[in-house]
Amino acid sequence: MERQTAWDKILEHLKSRVQSSDFDTWFRHSKQKSETSEYIQVRVTSPLFVEYISENFASQIAEAAAYAGYGDREIRFGSDDTFPSAVTPHKSTPETRRRTSALNPDYTFENFITGESNRLAHAAALRVADQPTRQYNPLFVCGGSGLGKTHLMQAVGHRRLSRHPGDTIIYMTSENFVNEVAQGIRFNRMEAVRQKLRAADLLLVDDVQFFVGKEASLTELFHTFNALYDDGKQIVFSSDAPPREINGLTDRLKSRFEWGLIVDIQVPEFETRVAILRKKAESHNIDLPDDVAFLLAARCKRNVRELESSLTKLELLADLRGEDLTADLARDVLADLLGRDEASSAPTEILKAVASHFGLKPSELKLRTKKEAIVFPRQVAMYVLKSATSLSLPEIGRLFGDKHHTTALHAIKKITGRIEEDPELNRQITNLIAQFRP
Ligand code: ADP
Ligand code: MG
Repeated sequence: MERQTAWDKILEHLKSRVQSSDFDTWFRHSKQKSETSEYIQVRVTSPLFVEYISENFASQIAEAAAYAGYGDREIRFGSDDTFPSAVTPHKSTPETRRRTSALNPDYTFENFITGESNRLAHAAALRVADQPTRQYNPLFVCGGSGLGKTHLMQAVGHRRLSRHPGDTIIYMTSENFVNEVAQGIRFNRMEAVRQKLRAADLLLVDDVQFFVGKEASLTELFHTFNALYDDGKQIVFSSDAPPREINGLTDRLKSRFEWGLIVDIQVPEFETRVAILRKKAESHNIDLPDDVAFLLAARCKRNVRELESSLTKLELLADLRGEDLTADLARDVLADLLGRDEASSAPTEILKAVASHFGLKPSELKLRTKKEAIVFPRQVAMYVLKSATSLSLPEIGRLFGDKHHTTALHAIKKITGRIEEDPELNRQITNLIAQFRP
């Protein structure tokens, strides 16, 4: 039996830290090339992998390495004989400090797509970037993971910097903050840490839910907040939940968080997801066909980060295989991410979606009536069912209170004709279908 390498051991810990589809895509074919007391070299499939892995999985790899007992080694990734990219499990202090104020250049307002789900948060963020007011101080942005909180906060930072280049802008994750405080206490330089924080004209603290249980940091945050607030400096917080729902925060801090404006970011609607994909494709200079965009947007509903990474994966695999970005390739390679065939629930979901599109209840589609307000939506539903599922015409007929299969056939012909004449209807129906096609 082959001896287990250090990387094999790290992989075992990594498995439980990344999604299984990611593990299969990115790590299954990785292999240790060599090992010294300082570093471990790992060979991956292509140079694209090198970049993607270190950008997206660095913290999980560092953690897995620490658990596997290699917390002191650098992990270097490469695809041939150069190993340009490294993940260091123990970040040194200077590096942590440098990262504290760095803003991701992509996280700007220009790159932020707005829709119903984030309109208020976006408007509030723009407002505090341009003209701080008591009313919106602090701005507290909450929402689920991967919905754009960090992006929006950093956009505030970028915008303020471009308007007021002299301003001191501090962006910190809660982790940065807690680390700074821990280091400050340990090296007896808390005063310097305080001064640094209080010099901010704009303080952005990301993911404050991670402060829970960190007493010293909570106290420090409280005093920093008071000092900046009294000076009229803008503060922006983010969290995965509204202040009152974060258990384990001190009441006085919760109440400070509620002084200004709390805005939330919801899961983006279909159109917004499509727009985000288009924007991302544009910035990558790739041609994203509508049906591929619809397919990805239909299947990645709850998390923009996953939506983006599904596109990146697809891009990468199209590139590796030398194929075009087509819906077939998308279905093929993203089968895992896109979930199992939801054949059994699909018809019900389709009836719901079509009914709601026309402002009806699903049961109304089944009424025995010749009223156009019912007949037309019913025909659309039949058309969508035929296009998005493998149901036969008699099966489709039965979904509507035992309509004969010729009724279904007639409906489909009718809608096919209408679509040819009416581009707007065509667009609506294409959207509906894309949401359900397996
Ligand atoms: P969160 O901090 O809420 O977990 P992020 O801000 O890290 O989420 O967003 C995850 C990814 O999704 C980022 O790459 C971000 O650029 C992207 N993203 C999220 N919302 C939008 C949006 N409305 N427009 C464009 N990109 C977005
Ligand atoms: Mg974030």
